[in-house]
Amino acid sequence: MVPGLYGPKGLSHKRVGYSKNRESTLFKFTLVASLSLCAVIAQTPTRPAATAAQFDLTALDKSVDPCSDFFHYACGTWLKTNPIPADQAMWGRFSELAERNREILHQILEDASKPAANRDATTQKIGDYYAACMDEKAIDARGLAPLQPELDRIRNLKDKSQIAEEIAHLHAIGVGVLFQFSSGQDFKDSNSVIAQFDQGGLGLPDRDYYFKTDEKSVALRQKYLAHVQRMLELAGEKPAQAKADAAAAMRIETALAKGSLDLVSRRDPEKVYHKISRQELAALSPAFRWNEYFTAAAAPAFESINVSYPDFVKAIDAGIKRTSLAKWKTYLTWQLVHSAAPFLPTPFTQENFNFYGKALSGTEEMRPRWKRCSDFTDQELGEALGRKYVDLTFGAEGKERTLKMVEAIEKALGQDIQQLSWMTPATKAQAMIKLKAITNKIGYPDHWRDYSSVVIRRDDPIGNSFRASDFEFHRVLNKIGKPVDREEWEMTPPTVNAYYDPQMNNINFPAGILQPPFFYKNVDDAVNFGAIGMVIGHELTHGFDDQGRQFDAQGNLKDWWTPKDAEEFQQRAACVEKEYSGFSVAPGASVNGKLTLGENTADNGGVRIALMALLNTIGNDTAKIDGYTPEQRFFLSFGQIWCENDREEVLRMLVQTDPHTPPQFRVNGVVVNMPEFQKAFACQPGQPMAPEHACRVW
Ligand SMILES: [Zn+2]
Repeated sequence: MVPGLYGPKGLSHKRVGYSKNRESTLFKFTLVASLSLCAVIAQTPTRPAATAAQFDLTALDKSVDPCSDFFHYACGTWLKTNPIPADQAMWGRFSELAERNREILHQILEDASKPAANRDATTQKIGDYYAACMDEKAIDARGLAPLQPELDRIRNLKDKSQIAEEIAHLHAIGVGVLFQFSSGQDFKDSNSVIAQFDQGGLGLPDRDYYFKTDEKSVALRQKYLAHVQRMLELAGEKPAQAKADAAAAMRIETALAKGSLDLVSRRDPEKVYHKISRQELAALSPAFRWNEYFTAAAAPAFESINVSYPDFVKAIDAGIKRTSLAKWKTYLTWQLVHSAAPFLPTPFTQENFNFYGKALSGTEEMRPRWKRCSDFTDQELGEALGRKYVDLTFGAEGKERTLKMVEAIEKALGQDIQQLSWMTPATKAQAMIKLKAITNKIGYPDHWRDYSSVVIRRDDPIGNSFRASDFEFHRVLNKIGKPVDREEWEMTPPTVNAYYDPQMNNINFPAGILQPPFFYKNVDDAVNFGAIGMVIGHELTHGFDDQGRQFDAQGNLKDWWTPKDAEEFQQRAACVEKEYSGFSVAPGASVNGKLTLGENTADNGGVRIALMALLNTIGNDTAKIDGYTPEQRFFLSFGQIWCENDREEVLRMLVQTDPHTPPQFRVNGVVVNMPEFQKAFACQPGQPMAPEHACRVW
């Protein structure tokens, strides 16, 4: 799992809604939930961008005391004047920028889709993919016919011994049934790429959704069951049959959920690392025909596989033995229809939205089709589209300035490590080695992915999606046994997010985020350090959060801490865990301090080292701009990148599944720990933003 800046990039999310972008990475730390990967955003729409070209003081609410509630001081007016559009589950500064980027993709795709004779191969692919996706009339007219061959394949299965082969086929076309098979760096040998097996196969966002007994959870499961039934009816089943089949699919998913490891445990790299042989895998689940699966998946020869959670393999075995072929067919059919829904006639997309958009996330209206089709093109042909986006938007200048800030912030983290009172010189020396080994990737890949083998047809949207998925599935599998490609990107260039990859030991900033309100060409340093500087600091700190610290400079899961320093770290992390567990987002829904510990550590460390870097950069310059000191502008800029309105439904989902804390607490949760903030705004001890007890790790 790569810790990112925003949103869950965790495995369990990738298959919800639609199952594209299949790279299965256990540990990638992002800045924010990569919501584009999950159903919430897949189904959520937007409205015309409110572009803020400059650092904007009109967002403030000066009637709020910054020492009482800094988030509402920094964002109050923005929150009031930026209600959530009907087609969104949440609306914030990230969404505004994502919407601007989407407008650019829209223009590129509209141009590319004009059937000119002289289009190059890349333009033809993205243009025709988009045009096929946009042609709603033709999609409605074709009905279920394009999916019929796939439905027939499942219907024609003769006995359970054929299930493995069919699952390999479904995986290749992007249907996330039963489990996930991919490749990844060996946790304990980062130079080698091995086969990876992970749990999967659920239609709800996480395992706990199948078991929680509170009223809302029970009601949501009822809605889910009704949704599965309606999708099966749309696929041609009679209501009574569809009802019984939905219940059967639900039982299979519930058994898989029961066999799955919970999200908090999945944050512990040791708990998701079980490297075993193919024979050992077969012994865990003799009822599943692994050889047939691997052959049908066209997996390269391999001896070892990391099975994240062996108990899940046992759950598969029990399921195959216990459940009839007819019931397996029902589950596979439901998952197939679910996965293909975005490219099926209107009743399917509408029903899909009704559950994933409305019931689960609270969104009122489906997004306009062009937004959905732009996002699908980004997900399935991301580096073909991204290349054109970069040509239009990102110059060498942007890259140079960002690199300069990265250097300043890395230097500040070095200073911070050296100054820590609780860490011994031995561990400090190791931490410095790790810091110096971090590599920086800015903007876009040096080598673009080659999609020449993917056939894209203007009249075949489902086929395009299946073929793009097939390309990606095999691209990932073909890495097994090959040298690690350190130039590869896990996010496409227009993405408004960033990530640290502990196994690569690198930080990654797509071009999509290197723009206002994160990065301005013409504002003072305080504003840029508070925004993109904090983002850079956040990603760097991930190398040293409770997960990242377990990997060494070479990206290996290896303990480089003295026992005493590890204990000191854990004590400080426990303070952060407790602090954030106290934040409530809705009745009965609180932040999970354990689930969000890595992200909160990264936020706290990130803001601290970005501020240190700013002060190193501006020296004694204390001149006020717009009435605010450099420190005040730094904190306001930080606060304002997190201005965001969220629907209650989506907040409830995120606190259960997202390793990131909701925005309000990402701001207030940090400033309460910073004497630098309290000094900048002259807060008095005991005020809400200046509590007696503060937490500090880095
Ligand atoms: Zn992060």
